[in-house]
Amino acid sequence: MIEKKCKHCGTTKDLRTNKNGVIYNCCITCYKTIEVPDQIYKTNEALQKKYGSSSFGMLRSDRCKQMPKKEPTITKKTCKYCGSENIVKKGKYTYRSCELHWKQFQKDADIKRKKTNLEVNGNSNLMKLPEKIEKFKNTMLKNMVVSILCRILNLLKKEERITYQNLAAKDQ
Ligand SMILES: [Zn+2]
Ligand SMILES: [Zn+2]
Repeated sequence: MIEKKCKHCGTTKDLRTNKNGVIYNCCITCYKTIEVPDQIYKTNEALQKKYGSSSFGMLRSDRCKQMPKKEPTITKKTCKYCGSENIVKKGKYTYRSCELHWKQFQKDADIKRKKTNLEVNGNSNLMKLPEKIEKFKNTMLKNMVVSILCRILNLLKKEERITYQNLAAKDQ
C-alpha cells in the first residue's frame, strides 16, 4: 500500500479522514488553512456569478425577499364516509367522521382495533398470560413493600418528633 501524504505540505501525519475511514491526500492543518478557505472562495465566486450574492446567508435573505411567504397549507379533516367537513370533535381530538356516520365510524374502528389486536398479539397473548400474571404479582409485591416501608419510615419520623418534643418540654 502506498503511504498517503499531504499534497500541500508533504506530511504523512494527521491526514484528514472521513467517517468511512477514507484517507485524503491532505493533512488536517492544510485542510483548515488552504482547502477550506479555497473552497469558500470558489463557492463565493460561483455564487456571485450565478446569483450576484456572495454568501449563503445573503443568498437566503435575498431569496426570502424575492419570494412571498407561503401560507401553510392546512389539510382539513373530512368525514371518510361522506366527505363532510362537519366532523366529530371530542376534547382536543377530531375524528374523520361526521355526526351522521359516527356510529359507523366507531363500529369500524372497533373492528379494526380487534383485528390488529388479534394480528399483533394473537395467540402469543394467551401464551404470555402466566408470564404477565407473574409480572403483575411481582409489581404488586414491590409496591406493597415500598408502601409498608414508607409507612414505617413515617411512623419512625413521627416518633422521633414526639421524642424531641418531649425532650424540649422537659428542658423548659
Ligand atoms: Zn499539509
Ligand atoms: Zn359522514
